[in-house]
Amino acid sequence: MDLSTQKQAVLSAARKAYAEKLMAGTSGNMSVYCREAGLMAITPSSYDYSIMEEKDIVVIDLEGNIKEGCHRPSSEWKMHAEIYKALPHVGAVVHTHSPYATCFAVNHQEIPVILIEMIPFLKGSLEVSAYAEQGSAQVGINAVPILSRKNACLMANHGVVAVGGSMPEAYINAVYVEDTAKIYHMALTAGTPVTIPGYEG
Ligand code: 13P
Ligand code: ZN
Repeated sequence: MDLSTQKQAVLSAARKAYAEKLMAGTSGNMSVYCREAGLMAITPSSYDYSIMEEKDIVVIDLEGNIKEGCHRPSSEWKMHAEIYKALPHVGAVVHTHSPYATCFAVNHQEIPVILIEMIPFLKGSLEVSAYAEQGSAQVGINAVPILSRKNACLMANHGVVAVGGSMPEAYINAVYVEDTAKIYHMALTAGTPVTIPGYEG
C-alpha cells in the first residue's frame, strides 16, 4: 500500500467519524498500518478534524520515528503500535470517545450480546479493558487480550478501540460499538434487556 493511499484512508475515516459525532473536539485518533513497510499513517495530535488534510496525516514506524509529516503524531501512537505488534491480522485501528460507549467504559460495564450485528462485526460482547494512563503503551497492552478475540473493546474511563483488517472494517466496527451502546442504554432505561441465547461471550 503506498503512503498516499494509507493517508487518504485515515483522513476519510477521521472526517466521517467527526461528522458522525463519534469524537468531540480533537479527541480520538485512527491509523492504517502497512505491515510490509512497517509504517503507520496516523492522525496528528490535538488537531482540528474540520480542517484536516492529507498532508496533516503523520507517518511513523512502530517506535514512533516520524517518516513523513509536519505535526506530532497522535499521543496514543504507542497504543496503536502495541496492537499492530501483537495482532498480525489488524491493519487499521480506530479510537473514539463516542458518548454512549464511553458511558459504559466509565462504569466499567460490559455490554452483553443484545443485537445480531454484534456477532459478525464485534465478535460478541463488548468487554472493558483495564485503565491505563493516556498515551502509555499500557493502554494498548491492556486492550490486546480482548482484541485477540474481538474486533473492539471499551477502555476503562476513556473510550473505545475498534480494529479491522482495513480502515473500512475498523471504522464500521467503531460505528457498531456506539450503536450497540446507545441501544443498550435505551433498553436499560425502558426495561430489562434480554441477551441473545447462545452468545454468552
Ligand atoms: P490525540 O489528539 O493526541 O490523538 O489524543 C486524543 C485522544 O483521544 C487521547 O486518548
Ligand atoms: Zn482517547
